[in-house]
Amino acid sequence: MSEQQPISSPQSEGLPRTYEVRTFGCQMNVHDSERLSGLLEDAGLARKPEDLTEEVADVVVFNTCAVRENADNKLYGNLGILKGVKESRPGMQIAVGGCLAQKDRDTILKKAPWVDVVFGTHNIGSLPALLNRSQHNKKAELEILESLEVFPSTLPTRRESVYAGWVSISVGCNNTCTFCIVPSLRGKERDRRPGEILAEIQALVDDGAIEVTLLGQNVNSYGVEFGDRLAFGKLLRACGEIEGLERVRFTSPHPAAFTDDVIEAMAETSNVMPQLHMPLQSGSDRVLKQMRRSYRSKKFLGILDKVRERIPHAAITTDIIVGFPGETEEDFQATLDVVEASRFASAFTFQYSQRPGTPAATMDEQLPKAVVQERYERLTALQDRIAKEENAKQLGRTVEVMVTEHAGRKAETTHRLSGRSQDQRLVHFSVPEGAQTPRPGDLVTLPITEVAAFHLVSDPTAEQYQLRRSRAGDAWDRSQADSCGVPAPGASSEPGRTNLGMPTLKVRS
Ligand code: SF4
Repeated sequence: MSEQQPISSPQSEGLPRTYEVRTFGCQMNVHDSERLSGLLEDAGLARKPEDLTEEVADVVVFNTCAVRENADNKLYGNLGILKGVKESRPGMQIAVGGCLAQKDRDTILKKAPWVDVVFGTHNIGSLPALLNRSQHNKKAELEILESLEVFPSTLPTRRESVYAGWVSISVGCNNTCTFCIVPSLRGKERDRRPGEILAEIQALVDDGAIEVTLLGQNVNSYGVEFGDRLAFGKLLRACGEIEGLERVRFTSPHPAAFTDDVIEAMAETSNVMPQLHMPLQSGSDRVLKQMRRSYRSKKFLGILDKVRERIPHAAITTDIIVGFPGETEEDFQATLDVVEASRFASAFTFQYSQRPGTPAATMDEQLPKAVVQERYERLTALQDRIAKEENAKQLGRTVEVMVTEHAGRKAETTHRLSGRSQDQRLVHFSVPEGAQTPRPGDLVTLPITEVAAFHLVSDPTAEQYQLRRSRAGDAWDRSQADSCGVPAPGASSEPGRTNLGMPTLKVRS
């Protein structure tokens, strides 16, 4: 059997097999899952309709994460449930990829021999071929590569939203943070060429997106591979030149590599949003050293000062780990002090958990769970108070919100719509009676009338409410029409929403 043939459907002749990708973990994984979906659609599979929540697809792919504790339990729990389904569904296939697969390799097949394919983080492009081979040879296929085969962005993509897209600018990481499994699973940093990145962004914009997020494990060290220390700032400025691109974000930068030219580029490029997510991890210099994070708290706070000086309304968010091995009450107090001084708009707070394969897992002085839990609660209480105070400053401000597709739980009960302001705050808003309802991707300008710790609310009057219908809203309209088989005016003749990560060249006549 040729590996290029569609993955055939033994039980439903004529109908494409369905697939679903279940994603655990970070944004990198969410983005990889878009690539996996694109690859499977290119191979002739159809996405399982979202409304069939109870049904399991013919091909189920797990894109796993090794960073969080319990990742293995979660995966094997899910695989256990699917075992019974698979026994009653001849031809069904299960594939496991992502960081946990890269780390556990054949352990997955030993623990769950009903899995058909195991693939790693460096060869996601092989998934269709591996599914085919496994179906043909009637045995499980395991393929893990030690280094990157094809840069993920050159693979077909099925984007999760038409109005915003993720663009990988680099993968891997040259740092060696002692709590992190990424360097051993994703390898050394590999940077894409700026021209390739800009061409991909242009293709997304041509397709209707008005927002992009530049992605990298260490996004601001971009350029290290081809020897240009100023490459990230230059890339931000180049994004500013792309007509129709209204919002540029990036995640996650490393404080040690955060240079002034990046702050200047952020401040001077009008479509780079006033927002920064920069991991602190700990406020104690002693713990940062143990974590092998090469900046100190003074440098971190200095970056925040400079960012706020140049971009006064920037919303700054962070990641913090509580209870790293050997963390004393004094160290923890230093974290609380930096959090108090930093005035984060929000923070992702994690309780340290031992990840096998990382240097920190074998360090002495692992802290008792009760100590970690108590510190965690003190930290989240402090951060929640700060978040609420920072949100309170938004009261009465007028913000521009890009409407998103999925309303939060809160918005569902109040029938408000939701979106993200320029500084990435979540805003639930109502549409005044008689006013036009926006589509996902459209932009509304409105005043903030109520605040909470984790979101803002706007109930504008008809005079206060301004709607700007955008190209992204048009693209959303087209995607809705495409999905029910009715072509919308101006819709592209190409089916579905699968785009090649790399654009094809357009020839101007
Ligand atoms: S900078 Fe540290 S935490 Fe981030 S990916 Fe690299 S090793 Fe992991």
